Amino acid sequence: AIYNLGSINADLFYQVPHLPGPGETLAAKSMTRGLGGKGANMSVAAARAAALVSHIGAVGSDGTWARQRLLEYGVDTRHIAVMDQQSTGHAVINVDEDGENAIVLFPGANAEITESAVGQALSESANGDTLLIQNETNQQAYAAKMGKELGMYVAYAAAPFDAASVQAVLPYLDFLILNEVEAAQLTEETGLAVDNLPVADVVITLGAKGCRWINSIEKTSQDFPAHKVDVVDTTGAGDTFTGYLLAGRDRGMPIAQAIGLAMKAGALMVTREGTADVIPDLKEVQESGL
Ligand code: ADP
Repeated sequence: AIYNLGSINADLFYQVPHLPGPGETLAAKSMTRGLGGKGANMSVAAARAAALVSHIGAVGSDGTWARQRLLEYGVDTRHIAVMDQQSTGHAVINVDEDGENAIVLFPGANAEITESAVGQALSESANGDTLLIQNETNQQAYAAKMGKELGMYVAYAAAPFDAASVQAVLPYLDFLILNEVEAAQLTEETGLAVDNLPVADVVITLGAKGCRWINSIEKTSQDFPAHKVDVVDTTGAGDTFTGYLLAGRDRGMPIAQAIGLAMKAGALMVTREGTADVIPDLKEVQESGL
């Protein structure tokens, strides 16, 4: 099973004639609300990849719809707290006529997760279960340390990148996933070389160029070329890739095979508009012909 300590956001898209300037009040032409947050996206991806997924997180009382939607997507939501005094994390996404966007992100309840909630959730885990964390919640280091002590397989997606957060969890990690930009930031801001980290397995995703897997125990690295697809919308590709990769591994696949599956899911995802709601399921990935 996978325990995912992760963010849950309401993604609020406003279609505006142009991005508002200082002092300007602007009427939006339409508004749509979707489920988002890297954490929620990864839980949905892992559940669609047929893993057992328990999401650890928090929403405000205005976010029970998001919790419900995760439940409908097959995610165990018992460890998602509903906090009366907090606002659900949200992203206000203004999109202009050219598709250019400007985003305001408010973490809300995602930053108020308690140690006791994390502790209670992880105490239900079995030896060898996966703990997944990203960087859009609090309690990452607490969870990573406890997960390691419990014999969990601890995986971290270093997004959005923050050097101090990576360094806090690094000693506990079995698996680290970074995109190309985050890998460059890691080297620039910490002086650590991505091919020589104290983490058994590191995967660097490279968008349309595929990904690289570095195994620091065997001292090997392997490049995987991406599938060629028509790109419609790249949002959510990385979250889908990570959810699939960890689901594959958690279900017993060797890492190289789990990467192969994740690359198919990531490629299929970029052919679709949207995020959590359109992440492909295992059958679609297997029947995609990729
Ligand atoms: P992020 O969204 O975190 O920046 P990437 O863009 O590196 O992540 O994408 C993650 C994975 O999704 C890639 O390693 C690749 O397998 C797949 N992918 C992303 N973009 C494309 C693309 N244009 N064509 C094919 N596969 C893609």
